[in-house]
Amino acid sequence: MFNLIDLPYAPEALSPAISAETLSFHHGKHLATYVKNLNAALPGSGLEDLPLEEIVCKAQGGMLNNAGQTLNHNLYFTQFKAWSAENAPSGPIAEAISRDFGSFDAFKAEFAAKGASLFGSGWVWLSADTQGRLAITQEGPAGNPVQKGLKPLLTFDVWEHAYYIDYRNSRPDHLAALWNIIDWAEINRRYAER
Ligand code: MN
Repeated sequence: MFNLIDLPYAPEALSPAISAETLSFHHGKHLATYVKNLNAALPGSGLEDLPLEEIVCKAQGGMLNNAGQTLNHNLYFTQFKAWSAENAPSGPIAEAISRDFGSFDAFKAEFAAKGASLFGSGWVWLSADTQGRLAITQEGPAGNPVQKGLKPLLTFDVWEHAYYIDYRNSRPDHLAALWNIIDWAEINRRYAER
């Protein structure tokens, strides 16, 4: 059984990138439903004793949809911190971004472009291989880089439920605002775990 994660910040802390109202629906309704449906499907599936990452690699159909959405949203909501005007990576992840993308600005441009151009619902991910090399990938509605043997580091949710209350149809404006709330200490922690 999996529990709905707690948010590690106050509901209004991410505004204006993400409003308290969006969080109340996205975390309190959407993620809560994915967790509830995952828990309902687990008993007797043969997967009920596995970590969530392994379930996402082995499950199919509705189980995969709900497990993938639970894992993705757990990583998504715990990668944020209170909004700040000046926010940029430091430490090993900053060095790796400069090495693999040329600069933080070039990385942001590619990440935002892949988020904006992803057709329909899905996720854009930054992940690392075991050597620490970084990659940006577009994934489908419940996709996660763990399915490709990669360590997921950072993700933007481009499902309309992630931004429609605050940004209506303007997905690019929403994605551009997220750079002000990324908790790069958490991204460094994930990068060190690869
Ligand atoms: Mn979502």
